[in-house]
Amino acid sequence: MKEKDCFARVIIDISHESVDRMFTYKVPEHLRDVISVGQCVSVPFGRGNTRRQAYVTQLGDTTDIDPAKLKEIEGIEEGEMPALARSIGLAWWMKNRYGSTMITALKTVLPVKKKMKDVIYREVSLAVSEQEAELLRREAFLKGQSGKVRLFSALSQGAGISFSYLTGQLAVSAQTITSLEKKGILKIESYQSFRNPIRFREKEPEKKQLTPAQQEIVEDYLKRFDAGERTPALLHGITGSGKTEVYMEIIEGMLRRGRQVIVLIPEIALTYQTVRRFYRRFGDVISILNSRLSAGEKYDQLRRVEQGQVQIMIGPRSALFTPFENLGLILIDEEHETSYKSDQMPRYHAKEVAQYLCSVTGAGLFLGSATPSLDSYYKAKNKEYLLYTLKERIGEAHLPGVQIADLRKELAEGNFSMFSRPLSEAMADRLARKEQIMLFLNRRGIAGFVSCKSCGEVLKCPHCDVSLSDHKDRMICHYCGYETPKVKRCPACDSPYIYGFKAGTQQIEEAVQKMFPAARVLRMDADTTRKKEDYDKILAAFTAQEADILIGTQMIVKGHDFPMVTLVGILAADLSLFASDFTAPERTFQLLTQAVGRAGRAEREGEAIIQTYQPEHFAIQRAAQQDYEGFYEEEIADREMMGFPPVVHLLCVLMTGEDEEKLIAFAGWLFQGLAEVYEKPQRPQVLGPAPASIGKIKDRYRQVVYVKSPDMQVLIRAKDLLEMKVEKVKKAAEGFSLLFDFDPISGY
Ligand code: ADP
Ligand code: ZN
Ligand code: ZN
Repeated sequence: MKEKDCFARVIIDISHESVDRMFTYKVPEHLRDVISVGQCVSVPFGRGNTRRQAYVTQLGDTTDIDPAKLKEIEGIEEGEMPALARSIGLAWWMKNRYGSTMITALKTVLPVKKKMKDVIYREVSLAVSEQEAELLRREAFLKGQSGKVRLFSALSQGAGISFSYLTGQLAVSAQTITSLEKKGILKIESYQSFRNPIRFREKEPEKKQLTPAQQEIVEDYLKRFDAGERTPALLHGITGSGKTEVYMEIIEGMLRRGRQVIVLIPEIALTYQTVRRFYRRFGDVISILNSRLSAGEKYDQLRRVEQGQVQIMIGPRSALFTPFENLGLILIDEEHETSYKSDQMPRYHAKEVAQYLCSVTGAGLFLGSATPSLDSYYKAKNKEYLLYTLKERIGEAHLPGVQIADLRKELAEGNFSMFSRPLSEAMADRLARKEQIMLFLNRRGIAGFVSCKSCGEVLKCPHCDVSLSDHKDRMICHYCGYETPKVKRCPACDSPYIYGFKAGTQQIEEAVQKMFPAARVLRMDADTTRKKEDYDKILAAFTAQEADILIGTQMIVKGHDFPMVTLVGILAADLSLFASDFTAPERTFQLLTQAVGRAGRAEREGEAIIQTYQPEHFAIQRAAQQDYEGFYEEEIADREMMGFPPVVHLLCVLMTGEDEEKLIAFAGWLFQGLAEVYEKPQRPQVLGPAPASIGKIKDRYRQVVYVKSPDMQVLIRAKDLLEMKVEKVKKAAEGFSLLFDFDPISGY
């Protein structure tokens, strides 16, 4: 008989650093059927065998350690910290689903990164009457004790004052304060204070009467929820159709049911405006997580969650791991965004992880977008998701009129500037009417590479198979960080005409200033948003109409509402079509649709002008018509024909190694016979091995294999088989690394 789950790996103390230290225990027979990953158990620990609580992270029937040396698990603890246990279960699921080590998976899901010191707020006040304090002040004055004088004057004016204010601004020594406390003259009270990243004055009830279309969605969803139905829902609504208002109403419904909510919003759209809107509706029960928070702020948000102060967590994909006790809903806004897929191991997609979490917590999944991902829309069409639609903009707002400007024609007619004539005329018109303009530069897929205009030489990183990017006075490799000063002459032909390809936001700004010297211009890109607050500052300034024109990259098209913007110019609309992966048309359509949607969000008529060299391309045409359905039909037909997701699933396996020949041999060996393991009808298609499109990074060569199947389970099994095969030859495989990416959204 095969013995099962005889050994358990456990973590004793779950702070982030100690995750690496796992201990192996024997599982006694009577526990073997009941033990599971994520459970809290008690174990004897250390020399004295003190009884400690531990969490099971892994179970197995073998171990590398001599069983005679192992201690036994004592028992299973009931009902301890279910949220934490859930996180460990989740890590286990992610490890198996995406292929990574348990430690990496745990580090991804355990939210507590580092224990931070609690901030204690101390308040000092008088323990004696004001008259007595006045006498003490005079006494101090006569003795020339100026610190005490400042102290008593300040305290005489009323209630308590913070300790740090007294010792800081008023320069009273801490010792003075504590000695007065000992004498019973002062009182010091301590409160625990959480660093709160949200600094809004007050909650104002801001509730709108929903339109019938909105109301219907909210009611239908909550009715299904109460009936126990948990089919994920997709809300497809054009920009400005009132999706956010629907989200907030459903969230409120969840709070009324005593359930908590996780709201995912792409980091880039998580702006002051968005957060304020939620804050106004829900007040202090919301919290946010984003990469701009300090470690202390992040830590405190999780403490607030633990203490039940937070009911709604808003954040990018990592907010999924908020350990709510009674999760009711995971809401993913702008669900098509690529940032929902992790670019590190485990390469999980937030939507899939959310679906898993919902299945273990009984929560619902609600997705929304103006341009749903092909994947979600495909699922909605196949009845795997509920589909809700909002077809009209709220109120008087209309979709903007869209014009396509053909840059080839402009060029042929002698216009060499960055702006087509229709765009420059429209800009002049808006400036005259004191309306606002947004200029959006589509930069996806281009790097400012440095090339020689005489011989065509492109400067490459010596360690990676990629071109170097142009940055002021240096050239940088974005893959390994290699940096080198800019060259003055071409290393191949000695020509002085070697420089970066220029089409950045800065160049646009210069061109705008030249054409319209009086226009006030703001620029938003990686360079102008280095600091934590820069991003919000620029948006606030533009909202306050301190500028006429906002120039920016992707950053400016997400989630902002600028009522005075009546013109959106899209420069280089087709650049993203050159990206080398199969999602290029989808990304292009999404970006253009979102950008166009920025114009005319209030009563004023809006207009968008798309500049392109490929005016006939269907992604550009459909975006101009704001025709999602039409785009979907054309694109899904292509995917079907080519055999790409979501019609079939893809597993990309990237193998790297220092020696190219050995790597090729290893890759060949690894995939030998993989397809044949499966019965014929199940058999996946195996493409490769072949060199990756970037053949080398950081001096490591790269080979890829694509495994294709309509059935995701077939691919997960392929991953397991490959992992096992490598595990068996551990030593020989040491120099190679293996990475799995399911339904990849970028090329390798
Ligand atoms: P989306 O999220 O689809 O872009 P929003 O929810 O932001 O749409 O709504 C667009 C605008 O319409 C916002 O200014 C919002 O305050 C307003 N709005 C939404 N629903 C209503 C409503 N039922 N009544 C009045 N105004 C609304
Ligand atoms: Zn040259
Ligand atoms: Zn490099």
